[in-house]
Amino acid sequence: MNYIHFKNIKNYSVYINNFLWNFSFNETKIIINNYDNYDICGSGFILYNVYNYTSYFDTFINSIGYINILKYCNICKTFDEEFCKICKLNQAVDNLPINFDEDCPICYNKLTVRYITICNDNRHKICDKCNTSKILKCPLCRINKYDENNENNQNNQNNENNIF
Ligand SMILES: [Zn+2]
Ligand SMILES: [Zn+2]
Ligand SMILES: [Zn+2]
Repeated sequence: MNYIHFKNIKNYSVYINNFLWNFSFNETKIIINNYDNYDICGSGFILYNVYNYTSYFDTFINSIGYINILKYCNICKTFDEEFCKICKLNQAVDNLPINFDEDCPICYNKLTVRYITICNDNRHKICDKCNTSKILKCPLCRINKYDENNENNQNNQNNENNIF
């Protein structure tokens, strides 16, 4: 099978390992992304250059073989080869020594150096997983993280930019 057989297929979608993948068949490349737009190894899509393979069909076979080995990380909502690199880095940071023993007041997981305070009180720590755009107030003192009087305001916005 060569491009001549593929070019009439505008978009092809197929489930592989419980995720829906979209294929676009371009004359020189096959472009693949997943239905939920999860990143694949830090990119929004996978690109398979037809010139690197013996035929168009061979390119397709290689691309689905690759998708089949990808691992999905439920925490980072990304695909990666072998294991989630982001989680591995976070784990290393979490292993740094701390001088407190506290749980996140929202999810009750042990806090690590990756804690964040969204109010002005350094005792009101929450974990960075719970610091989503949905949380607007400190769960302990209820100070709004976007409150003009909140000196942490600038920091919080910077933190969020770094996360997303
Ligand atoms: Zn991860
Ligand atoms: Zn938490
Ligand atoms: Zn607080």
